[in-house]
Amino acid sequence: MAAVKERVFSGVQPTGNLHLGNYLGAIKRFVDLQAKYDCLYCVVDLHAITVWQEPEELTKNIREVTAAFLACGIDPKKQIVFNQSQVAEHAELAWIFNCVARMGWLNRMTQFKEKAGKDKENASVGLFAYPNLMAADILVYRATHVPVGEDQKQHLELARDIAQKFNNDFAAQIAKLGLQGHFFPLTEPLISGPATRVMSLRDGTKKMSKSDASDYSRINLTDSADDIAQKVRKARTDPEPLPTTEAALETRPEADNLVGIYAALADTTRADVLKEFGGAQFSRFKEALTELSVAKLSPIGSEMKRLAQHPKHIDAILADGSSRARAIAAETMKHVKDIVGFVRA
Ligand code: ATP
Ligand code: MG
Repeated sequence: MAAVKERVFSGVQPTGNLHLGNYLGAIKRFVDLQAKYDCLYCVVDLHAITVWQEPEELTKNIREVTAAFLACGIDPKKQIVFNQSQVAEHAELAWIFNCVARMGWLNRMTQFKEKAGKDKENASVGLFAYPNLMAADILVYRATHVPVGEDQKQHLELARDIAQKFNNDFAAQIAKLGLQGHFFPLTEPLISGPATRVMSLRDGTKKMSKSDASDYSRINLTDSADDIAQKVRKARTDPEPLPTTEAALETRPEADNLVGIYAALADTTRADVLKEFGGAQFSRFKEALTELSVAKLSPIGSEMKRLAQHPKHIDAILADGSSRARAIAAETMKHVKDIVGFVRA
C-alpha cells in the first residue's frame, strides 16, 4: 500500500447559532488549509442528533452550516463539502470502533460529562459513543490532519488510541493482506493560533457555545452590525486598563479572551495587539474590536443570508460532495471488512 496521503478532515455540528468560536477555532482555519491539503469538510448531522433536534430545525441548520462554509471561502469544487448522514460508511465504521474502544476510555471524556450534566441515566447512548463516531469520521478517510478547537483535543487523542488499537489488534491480518505498516494513520490535531478556545462574553471561564442560553454570551455569524456592537460593548471586563504584556493576561480571563479574538480576526498575535492597545481603557479597545468584528463578519453573515434563499443549490453541493466522499470511504471500508474477517462479495 502506498504511503498514507496527507488529507484534512473536520466537521461542524448543525445545532444552530454558529458563533465566533466556531469561526475562529475551526471554519476560518479550514479555509486557510485549502491551499496546502486536500480537505473534506463535513456537516456532522449524525452527531447533532445525540441530543434532541426538531426535524425542521435540523434541516435548516444543515443548510446553514453549509452556507457558512461557503460564505467563509471554502471552495466546494476543489474540496469536498458534504453532510455525514449521506455517507453511510461513517456509521458503519463507528460500529466497528464501538467494538474497539473500551468503556474506560469513554468514561474519561469530559464532553460527555458536561453535556449529560447531572442526569447521566437519561443521556442518549449516542452522546456517550459520540467520540467513536468522530474517530470513524476521520479514519474512514484516513485523514492525517484535523483542525479543531481546543475543546476537541481529548476526542482526537481517543481517535489516535482507537487507530492504534485497531492497527495492533489486527496487525497479523493487515500484514497478510499486504496492507503494510499502519493501516490507520495516527491523526494529528491542528490546534493553534490565538483563538483555539474563544470564551463566553459573559463569563471568561466558560467556552463560547451554541447552546448557552444567553445570546449575549456569543457573537453569531449572522448577527447584525448593531447586535455585534451591543454584545461587544456589554462584554464582561475588569476595571483595569489593558496590560502591556501577554503574561499579565494570564490572570485576566475576560481581557485575554477579547485580546485573543482581536488577534485572530486581525491575523496577528496577542503581543502585537497589546503593542497597539496596552495601557488603553477597554472603552477604546472595545470600539476597535467592534469595528474589526463588523468588518470581518458582516460580509459572511450577508452571504449566509443570501444562500439561505437557495436551498436547492446548497442541497446539490451536499449531494455532489457526498458522492465524492463516499467513493473514498467505500475503499476504506472494503479493506476494513477484509481486515476484520467479514465475508463480502
Ligand atoms: P455544541 O455546543 O453543539 O457542541 P459547539 O459550539 O461546540 O456546539 P461544534 O459543532 O461542536 O460547536 O464544534 C465545531 C468546531 O468549533 C469544533 O472544531 C470545535 O472545537 C470548535 N469550537 C467550538 N466552540 C469553540 C470555541 N468557543 N472556541 C474555539 N473553537 C470552538
Ligand atoms: Mg461542541
